Amino acid sequence: MTKTVSVAATFTISDGHWRRQPLLLLRDQLRLHDIDSADRPTSMTHLPTRRSVLKYGAAFAASAALGCVSRGQRTPSSLQRNVVIMFDGFGPEYLAESKMPVLGQWKRDGLYKSVKGLMPSVTNVNNASICCGVWPEVHGITGNSYFDENRGVEDYMESAELLLAPTLFERAAKHGVKSALLSSKAKTVTFLLRGAEIVLTAEEPTPEWVRRLGPAPMIYSREINYWLLRAAIDILRNRPDIGCLYVHTTDYAMHMWPPEAPESKEHLERLDELFGQAMNAAPDAAFFLTADHGMNAKTRCYDLEKVCARRGVSLRKAFSAGRDRYVKHNRGCSGAAYVYLKSPQDAARVRAILSQLKGCERVLTREAAAHEYRLMASRIGDLVVCGDKDTLFGEMDTEQENFSSGLRSHGSEHEQDIPLLVYHANNTPSGDYFQHNLDLARSLYSA
Ligand SMILES: [Zn+2]
Repeated sequence: MTKTVSVAATFTISDGHWRRQPLLLLRDQLRLHDIDSADRPTSMTHLPTRRSVLKYGAAFAASAALGCVSRGQRTPSSLQRNVVIMFDGFGPEYLAESKMPVLGQWKRDGLYKSVKGLMPSVTNVNNASICCGVWPEVHGITGNSYFDENRGVEDYMESAELLLAPTLFERAAKHGVKSALLSSKAKTVTFLLRGAEIVLTAEEPTPEWVRRLGPAPMIYSREINYWLLRAAIDILRNRPDIGCLYVHTTDYAMHMWPPEAPESKEHLERLDELFGQAMNAAPDAAFFLTADHGMNAKTRCYDLEKVCARRGVSLRKAFSAGRDRYVKHNRGCSGAAYVYLKSPQDAARVRAILSQLKGCERVLTREAAAHEYRLMASRIGDLVVCGDKDTLFGEMDTEQENFSSGLRSHGSEHEQDIPLLVYHANNTPSGDYFQHNLDLARSLYSA
């Protein structure tokens, strides 16, 4: 079968990172029936490859930027436009310390609650839960990284085929509602994009978006979030057919600065202003906001493979559940770790070693962790280790490293407290309904 599109793009993987030359491709020109079935992005049984995920994402973004999607298909009038904001790393101290009058208005006139994020308190686990409205035991995302036991390799948990529950966008599509997924981080769009009409990452925007908004700032900046919000506002203004927006910022600023730092205040005040502009652009819309985790300054980090090796037990694998591509944020360290044993007989010995480590707060068996944190048992370690408020786990040159000024990070139970706000929504469930961040958009398009 002949493909009818010429794809003006190349995809390369180098140093374990993908690089994309953005596409110039209109969705109207993209005939799905002409594409190899392995590349089709829709069905759970025909899962997209990582490359096709990026390809379609870029294609949809390009078509949106060029305004080529038919405007005949309006959101059903019975449904409000919904803007879901996943405010990465937005712990309650940040809300308390910064001047955020727009969030103040949402809090006063809407619904505000302090809720819990999910364990491990890392981005992908919580992002998947907020987007799908289910626990990790259902959607299967158990960390930013996971250990593929069959292949014997550790890999990033950011491919759509690992996500086992329908996304918000797939649910919306069943109601005839079109969605946009916008994220500062490229890793988000590769695993959450199913069902979204527009997929945009500020980390690698298409030339059309750059033409509209100017170049996007680098990923290691707080300014990238401003660019992202401007894209969301652009869609709210110019694409009334998009009924659901999911906007995911980056927590770079929270990793870099405590709530009282001027840089942090500037970041949050500017974002608050942009939330106000989004409200003005879409006076009809409902706004839903929560976070994935908070943030704490940590003073020590352990390399658990080295810790155990020095005490006479060699592990199959130990790694930080929060390890992702963005090493400048946290050096890949987080407050939770998965430990894989070489033999079940090592369990008692390893538990004893880890339990005696200062700052190692909990050592759970696979079964206990799966039960308590509602994680998918087949995708976590033989042991799940959680640090106290000061303690991280990660790969290092030495068994332990101390940080006198504190390395700001998350992953433990101590970063689970987060705010949740709902503003201007028709049919909001009562406050009791919202206990966890995953409840934020769970009731949207659920029937
Ligand atoms: Zn995060």
